[in-house]
Amino acid sequence: MVQAEAVIDLDAIRANTAHLVERAASRSAATMAVVKADGYGHGAVPSARAALAGGATWLGVATVAEALELRTAGIDAPMLSWLNAPGTDFTAAVGADVDLGVPSVRVLDDVVAAAKATGRTSRVHLKVDTGLGRSGATSADWPDLLTAAAKARAEGTIEVVGVWSHFACADEPGHPSIAAQLEAFHQALEIAEKLGIRPQLRHLANSAGTLTLPQAYFDLVRPGVALYGLSPNPERIEAPLRPAMTLRGEVLIAKRVPAGHGVSYGHTYHTKTATTLALIPLGYADGIPRHASNRAPVLLGGKRRTIAGRVCMDQFVLDVGDDPVSDGDEAILFSPDGPTADEWAEVVGTINYEIVTRVGARVPRRYV
Ligand code: PLP
Repeated sequence: MVQAEAVIDLDAIRANTAHLVERAASRSAATMAVVKADGYGHGAVPSARAALAGGATWLGVATVAEALELRTAGIDAPMLSWLNAPGTDFTAAVGADVDLGVPSVRVLDDVVAAAKATGRTSRVHLKVDTGLGRSGATSADWPDLLTAAAKARAEGTIEVVGVWSHFACADEPGHPSIAAQLEAFHQALEIAEKLGIRPQLRHLANSAGTLTLPQAYFDLVRPGVALYGLSPNPERIEAPLRPAMTLRGEVLIAKRVPAGHGVSYGHTYHTKTATTLALIPLGYADGIPRHASNRAPVLLGGKRRTIAGRVCMDQFVLDVGDDPVSDGDEAILFSPDGPTADEWAEVVGTINYEIVTRVGARVPRRYV
């Protein structure tokens, strides 16, 4: 084994996708697998392939660079890239058949320019903000965006493939904003319809929407975190998903120290008795939150331990007492069998998304 690695269970991604695809298909909706941020840390290309094998027919990413990485790897599935800044040159995206999320007239102008430059029709998904307060045209700007899109469509520079939005609180079942956003989305679609825009794909649901809101499926769902086997809200949303990532490291050195020995920077931990300290080669540069210091659980020698002292840039320490731990033994930070990424998120005060997405580029991914 290498000193540290993230083991990615591609069959789990395939099976999780198949589960989500089945839910979506129950309402005749397609599934877009969201593989942005390097497949939530699991590797964009292998994750995309596994999700496609599980029945997803679309891929979703944030940036054009992420989309082009998938295209360069030979993945030719329909693909949407949505975080698009005004002033961007979209010719490479249009040339590579990447659909573009369009949140404003300014971005629409750039997308039209790319169509003219390439002699192709740009495929767009118009983004309407229905209440998230993030990207997308606010309701006051829907008519402008939709009218400009209708004009560009009539001129043949764009095809309006989708109209779409994104939930703010779908991970909190029953939150009043969910019904309000659904209502607003229907209103936006009505305005589009009046302008002659009848997109083949209306889409709104993320993982939480896919797991709890069939009425929000429309023509396509966009799950992300659930593909990787994690619940968007472990306390409130349960689903038969299998976490795909195991993060492990091997003990670099195990050594005896006396009682009262300070451990790691700042000596925030002192040994209570003579004990064995085991050094694990993963640190905050690898995405292990420094806030995990003296908090997060790690499995070593069949027992759960708590990180002793501060997490450093490249390493942290476990106090294993008199247990027979030696160099090269395996330490599991999180895995489907526990400790889990959900537990790490809880003790560190974050969400499981951040735990897996932050696993750094220095940590090799091994696919099984
Ligand atoms: N759609 C959009 C626009 C997103 O930004 C994201 C992720 O943040 C998703 C879908 C997938 O969300 P989740 O990972 O909660 O399923």
